[in-house]
Amino acid sequence: MSALLIRQVRIVNPGREITSGDVLVRDGRIVAVGTVPGSLRAEVRNPTVIEGAGRLLTPGLIDLHTHGVMHSLYESGPDGLHAAARELGRFGVTTVLPTIVPQIRDGWLERLASVAAAIPSVRAVNIPGLHLEGPFMAVGGAACPTLPGDLGLLERIIAACGGRLAAMSLSPDAPNILPVIARLREKRIPAFLTHTRASVEQTEAALTAGATHATHFYDVFYAPPETDPGVRPVGVVEAVLADPRATVDFIADGVHVHPTAIRAAVAAKSFAGVILITDSNIGAGLPPGTYDTPWGYPVRVSPETAARHATNNTLAGSALTMDRGMANLLGWLDLPPEQIWAMGTLNPARLLGLSHKGRLEAGADADLVLWNDDLRPAQTWLAGNCTYEKAAR
Ligand SMILES: [Zn+2]
Repeated sequence: MSALLIRQVRIVNPGREITSGDVLVRDGRIVAVGTVPGSLRAEVRNPTVIEGAGRLLTPGLIDLHTHGVMHSLYESGPDGLHAAARELGRFGVTTVLPTIVPQIRDGWLERLASVAAAIPSVRAVNIPGLHLEGPFMAVGGAACPTLPGDLGLLERIIAACGGRLAAMSLSPDAPNILPVIARLREKRIPAFLTHTRASVEQTEAALTAGATHATHFYDVFYAPPETDPGVRPVGVVEAVLADPRATVDFIADGVHVHPTAIRAAVAAKSFAGVILITDSNIGAGLPPGTYDTPWGYPVRVSPETAARHATNNTLAGSALTMDRGMANLLGWLDLPPEQIWAMGTLNPARLLGLSHKGRLEAGADADLVLWNDDLRPAQTWLAGNCTYEKAAR
């Protein structure tokens, strides 16, 4: 029986409250929060003791949308998956949906199957399954294919993932998309809206069919053209903001989306409808510099955490990490901090139906992060096992 006692921390239970006290973990679960009863102290012998010294303790961060980190890409195969997973603890991440843009060419389903089959052998992070960004898209960008909805192809994708497809991003304006959304709902696989020029009507139809969420909201969400001079056009962005069925996520790097757009979404949906993602790629978590990619051009990562094509300076993905995204949101949003922490923990857990994650209370999984005062992780645990500890100076 393994046990862990984290003493004297400020305990963030996302969306609820911040309190002070101790946290006791046994066999991968949180068993007591605040004041640990004497009977439990007597029962749990010789726990590993961590001195929190008044620092913040939160649930582990959950990234719904990320293509890779540092030098590794999930789409490159099982080795890339393992290499990326090993780095996530340093950024406070304990659950991740490795996100893959399907490249429709010979052997792509086999490659997808090989990544999905490698998931159970990953120990460093919890992976509920893969997130596929495509292929049923209306608007390309970021090398996304643009195929119409195709139930036969969807079944082949689901089969290749072997029960490990956790989310699929698609465009509400792709032809024949509604049967795809309905089938995903039957399979309990969340459908995320993205890469779109959809009308209000197309968006509402997709939400009625079962889509639940919009990913990298505002990015690759085009405004419709003006039809009457001075009449502001309304499209997918307004339809998603107005509809309480949809939650949204943002790349909170200050480059891909303006902080005011995030504040507008919070005003429309409350904190509970807004989620932090990274959409990260090669270069995320690395110091500013220029890094090679498999795409035929290098990327330059500067301190503002957006990756840019090194030669023509266009955006080339995100270099955000979840810990930096949380720090940005805590700086930008005028909300109680426990509500802001929910955007990286409780809210994504709810979207994925992970009822034991994103909470810091008795009975929840012991996926935890102890934060230093500079909002960098000091230590990260997955099911009570340490996956990262910052080296002592
Ligand atoms: Zn993406």
